[in-house]
Amino acid sequence: MSKRNKPSTYKFVNGSVESTSDNFYTNNYNTTKFTNCQTQNSNYSEDSELKEKFIPKHKKSIYLSDIYMRLGLDKKADRVCDCGSYLEFAHEVDANGIIDEHGKLHFARFCRDRFCPMCSWRRSLKLIANVSQCLPKITKDYKCLFLTLTIPNCTEEDFQATIDKLMNGWHHLTNNRKWKKVVKGFFRVLEVTRNKNRNSKSYKTLHPHFHIMLIVPKSYGTRGLYISRNEFLEMWQHAYGDNSITQVDVRLLKPKDAKEIIDSKEIIPLKSLNSALLEVCKYTLKDSDYLDESLSEDEQDNLLSSLIDGLHHRRLAHFGGVFKEIYNSLGLEDVEDENCDLTHIEDKITKGVGLLITSFRWGMSRYNFYNNRMEYKKEVI
Ligand SMILES: [Zn+2]
Repeated sequence: MSKRNKPSTYKFVNGSVESTSDNFYTNNYNTTKFTNCQTQNSNYSEDSELKEKFIPKHKKSIYLSDIYMRLGLDKKADRVCDCGSYLEFAHEVDANGIIDEHGKLHFARFCRDRFCPMCSWRRSLKLIANVSQCLPKITKDYKCLFLTLTIPNCTEEDFQATIDKLMNGWHHLTNNRKWKKVVKGFFRVLEVTRNKNRNSKSYKTLHPHFHIMLIVPKSYGTRGLYISRNEFLEMWQHAYGDNSITQVDVRLLKPKDAKEIIDSKEIIPLKSLNSALLEVCKYTLKDSDYLDESLSEDEQDNLLSSLIDGLHHRRLAHFGGVFKEIYNSLGLEDVEDENCDLTHIEDKITKGVGLLITSFRWGMSRYNFYNNRMEYKKEVI
């Protein structure tokens, strides 16, 4: 998201939008017509956001809707098909009548379906924004470790049983005596990827795994408050009940805090908290993994059915211990709650003298400008 208050070439004067350069607003906002936002060249930020994000996501949502229809899930199909089909962006107008060219999503109807590509993207943005808000409190009093726990790939048929086993393994791991001594809180995301390489022996298999951000005491690495990479591996092998697991990755947030641990060459230092956070918060299900147009309709339908069954009533993002306490103390929304606001991510819309609202409707495989209107000084959000 770019910063607000970027100088604009548009002025709001006596109820009309005046232009100081060649642009797609003419003299009066009430009579201004946008043409197709896909091709219209404008300075308004939502154009690129529509092109780069909303259009591809909505097209995938429609593809998902067709699968739901074939599976007889008509209600889901309708909701997903309509997801994000009407969008409003708000441009702040300051006391000088300058319109902020950066439009922020102001209103949208999102379906909140777990597999909806549009909603998964919005949920991921919200999760990143929410977890980022927790970090100052966490890093003040604790160190952060990033842990990836993997298991062997499974077939679509075995997916549900594998997820059950994975969750059981997590339960056992978090009750391990050493884990409980060292780990003070966690943020865990379940990610599922799929092998799409037709030349691979494990083509079409699924790969569920956990990305976890662990909170450990500042004194981690001293006085026995330390779990080596090999210990994590052994603990996970034992908890999951499979000694063939070899992949466990551990990273420590701050290299300067990790001197003694780096010396052991077991735990890789992290260069950036943001990149690690993005790794944890990225989509738990990449739509390119489960919406694959190279599959036959039957293959596609079976794949989605397996994922729906395996993830039914399973939390994808889960908080525990101190992390959960901090998340809740900040009043942050549960991104998997059906009432979670997926429209406003982090930058709340404030008001100057008013807002210029631009709206778009989906039709003919693109977003078409619908209208714009002014909302004068009042509480909008
Ligand atoms: Zn949706």
